[in-house]
Amino acid sequence: MRLIRSIRQVKKVLSEFKKKGRTIGFVPTMGALHQGHLSLIRKARRSNGLVAVSIFVNPIQFGPREDLKSYPWDLKKDLRSCRQCGVDIIFCPSVKEMYGRDHKTSVTVKGLDSRLCGEFRPGHFQGVATVVVKLLNIIQPDTAYFGQKDAQQAIIIKKVVSDLNIPVRIEVMPIVREKDGLAMSSRNVYLNARERNNSAILRQALKAAAAMARGGAIKPAGIIKKMRKMILNKGGRAEYISIVDPQELTPLKNISGKALIALAVYFGKTRLIDNITIEA
Ligand code: AMP
Repeated sequence: MRLIRSIRQVKKVLSEFKKKGRTIGFVPTMGALHQGHLSLIRKARRSNGLVAVSIFVNPIQFGPREDLKSYPWDLKKDLRSCRQCGVDIIFCPSVKEMYGRDHKTSVTVKGLDSRLCGEFRPGHFQGVATVVVKLLNIIQPDTAYFGQKDAQQAIIIKKVVSDLNIPVRIEVMPIVREKDGLAMSSRNVYLNARERNNSAILRQALKAAAAMARGGAIKPAGIIKKMRKMILNKGGRAEYISIVDPQELTPLKNISGKALIALAVYFGKTRLIDNITIEA
């Protein structure tokens, strides 16, 4: 496994692999790797000749009051996990290497980037889309792997790749969860013991919502009300709970066909997201 910090160097190494006809699987991450990330890496390993993982805590996707400075990454531990999963190349650039002194370009995905999380994290998805496009141009993978945990992110990336004709296949992998159902996240370490116990309600609320829809409930408002109550009972403060069209992310008036139920909830100071896709 090679740890590479420069764009020039990683391009050089990868072009040599490409010449040998080996496919490249790429997993972009911000480090603090857990089993959710590793599921993407393992999938990339099974399906490609070479696996590249990027570890880059992207400053332009953090808001001014967010946890950029305290983001819990640990490069040594991440390198160990990557080695165990058979990663070939870790690309870990500095902010200066990625953005230089005069970076002026950014990628917006009109509408999609201001819905759900985008309403509460202005500029976040612009930052994500910009860094992902940069990384895809640098690595030029055959397939890039993303998690359904960040459903909105995955939808936005697919749209960017399609709209900008970026020659890469995007594969979205299922959410990996803790035993009690909490979606794995680098930010779960911020939860204290009580918050951690209570946070299992998110998965339960999503499952209850899916069951209501399966049972014939078609009005999102009633389902959302029930979810909000379940979450509030456990001390969670919902930033949003939405039932939306899974492509456009616009709120549904009635549930018929496919729907994405997505939420962002605070337990204490920690903001957690989760989602479920249903087919009524
Ligand atoms: P991050 O390091 O948080 O930017 O995440 C890197 C990638 O891992 C993204 O595509 C995430 O959607 C994915 N990911 C994070 N948590 C999980 C999870 N619990 N299950 C599956 N994928 C995940």
